[in-house]
Amino acid sequence: MTVSNYLKLIIPARSVNEGFARAAVAAFASQLDPTLSDITEIKTAVSEAVTNCIVHAYKDAMGEISIRARIIDTDTLEVCVSDKGSGIDDVKKAMTPLFTTCETGERSGMGFTIMESFMDSVRVSSRPGRGTRVTMRKRIITRR
Ligand code: ATP
Ligand code: MG
Repeated sequence: MTVSNYLKLIIPARSVNEGFARAAVAAFASQLDPTLSDITEIKTAVSEAVTNCIVHAYKDAMGEISIRARIIDTDTLEVCVSDKGSGIDDVKKAMTPLFTTCETGERSGMGFTIMESFMDSVRVSSRPGRGTRVTMRKRIITRR
């Protein structure tokens, strides 16, 4: 595995930063010459992961979100979104379509499902009370 380029970004968990985070990762990913639909999928997946940090990890608190992106083996984008927030008790259950801990009806429980459908792989590691890390990979088929 070779890493030819990387990005590290730390932002406060405020919803105003969500658009910036997804645009930053999309701009970084553009060096792989992705299609417009690849870019849309990457942006949507990053947006879901970052939104989860804001609304779940740091629900009643303020904290930082770390976003790391890497180019692996010249054609694969890896994005890692992590927080030091509440953590997830049961990751497998949390990733089930339509599962949400939101009780107000504002959330549909589809964030992880969307990440999984738009990226090639999604790995989640979490420790209750310590935080969560979501690592996603997508291979960009070169058109050149
Ligand atoms: P939606 O994404 O459709 O608005 P949702 O956020 O509830 O709804 P998912 O993104 O699939 O759905 O997340 C499922 C559940 O996993 C959440 O309801 C929450 O309990 C938990 N979760 C997800 N990300 C985090 C995180 N970073 N920290 C703590 N809990 C999380
Ligand atoms: Mg979500």
